Amino acid sequence: MLNFSFQNTTQIHFGEGQIKTIRQAIPASARVLVTYGGGSIKSNGVYEQVAEALSEHTWFEFSGIEPNPSYGTLIKALDLIQQHNIDFLLAVGGGSVIDGTKFIAAAALYNGDAPWEFVASGQVIEQALPIGCVLTLPATGSETNVGSVVTRDGAKLAFHSPLIRPLFAVLDPLVTLSLSDRQISNGVVDAFVHVMEQYLTYNVNGKVQDRFAEGLLLTLIEEGPKALAPQTKNDLEVRGNIMWAATMALNGLISAGVPQDWSTHMIGHEITAAYGVDHARTLSIVLPAVMKICKDAKREKLLQYAERIWNLTEGDNEIRIHKAIELTEQFFEVMQVPVRLSQIDIAEMNIDTLVEQLTQHGMTQLGEHGTITPEVSRNILTAAL
Ligand code: NAP
Ligand code: FE
Repeated sequence: MLNFSFQNTTQIHFGEGQIKTIRQAIPASARVLVTYGGGSIKSNGVYEQVAEALSEHTWFEFSGIEPNPSYGTLIKALDLIQQHNIDFLLAVGGGSVIDGTKFIAAAALYNGDAPWEFVASGQVIEQALPIGCVLTLPATGSETNVGSVVTRDGAKLAFHSPLIRPLFAVLDPLVTLSLSDRQISNGVVDAFVHVMEQYLTYNVNGKVQDRFAEGLLLTLIEEGPKALAPQTKNDLEVRGNIMWAATMALNGLISAGVPQDWSTHMIGHEITAAYGVDHARTLSIVLPAVMKICKDAKREKLLQYAERIWNLTEGDNEIRIHKAIELTEQFFEVMQVPVRLSQIDIAEMNIDTLVEQLTQHGMTQLGEHGTITPEVSRNILTAAL
């Protein structure tokens, strides 16, 4: 196992009816800005629950944070923050709202001229407003992690800071019942791929991390399809297990002390930035291609994955690896997401653009060994056609 330091300070309030805990979780004297997206929280009762919980607080609201949140939208919150002396942010929504709120939190207290700098140049964030969140879409893990992804002028970029980690996260599985099948699928697949990117590298004897990761993968494979099946789709145990798995998938625990390969996410971000494809639907296409192109570097872990996740214990190594990749694709198909670029109308002629973007955004040494150069990314995209 590699050396590591681990800390995750987000307090989690899990379960039905837990939105009311935000009354105590946010200081009574705080001036709160509630941030949300396009209005799903107004039609599923979450907004009313938040308003009720904040009935003794002073609060304002900022809406319209869109999927794949953009700089242009987020920057508008800064005037409100100044005007009302806001000192606490409450994000109510999915990963886009939480990520967008993380950007707002850091931008509000940024000393330089252009708050995009801490995203574009990786500048260290020195201060940020405190954030709490009510998660409505299990997927990204953003509710307890230190990352955020925002888009500006076709550049979809991630930034990180311990200062943007939410202080608390409310995880009420009941609020996920209003999700469309498309968003359920997206969430399960995003979480599955997060686990794979921290698992499918090379072996450093991180036995605890491996078993945690495998437990999460098996849970998502078992519960994901149930959340789409008419007989089980409203089962709160199913929703709760998916919600908790998605949070655990990207909260820093399974990545501690093991190598990571975020190439699927980085290549996927370029597809979303260029063609507006849903985040998870880029991952379900890119991951199997990464598994195929990088199979020599990942051989040992691929065999472990084949055995422990798909019970493939017999036959030639090469065949087991091939079968494990095929079963991964079949799982994605059951989850109703695409597994080839052609299914989302992206063709060979679009690959140049994607490779150029990767190069422009500095994604030139991806993977656990830093060996996924733009040319290897081209091979991955070609394998995904
Ligand atoms: P999302 O973009 O936050 O939300 C997708 C859609 O789902 C929105 O239209 C939203 O509507 C709707 N929605 C959310 N909750 C709902 C509910 N309970 N009922 C009905 N509709 C609901 O989706 P996401 O997958 O959570 O986030 C994706 C973003 O996160 C991407 O930008 C991705 O790059 C990023 N990401 C971040 C991390 C990280 O670690 N920070 C990791 C992976 C991905 P409303 O707008 O109306 O609410
Ligand atoms: Fe993701």
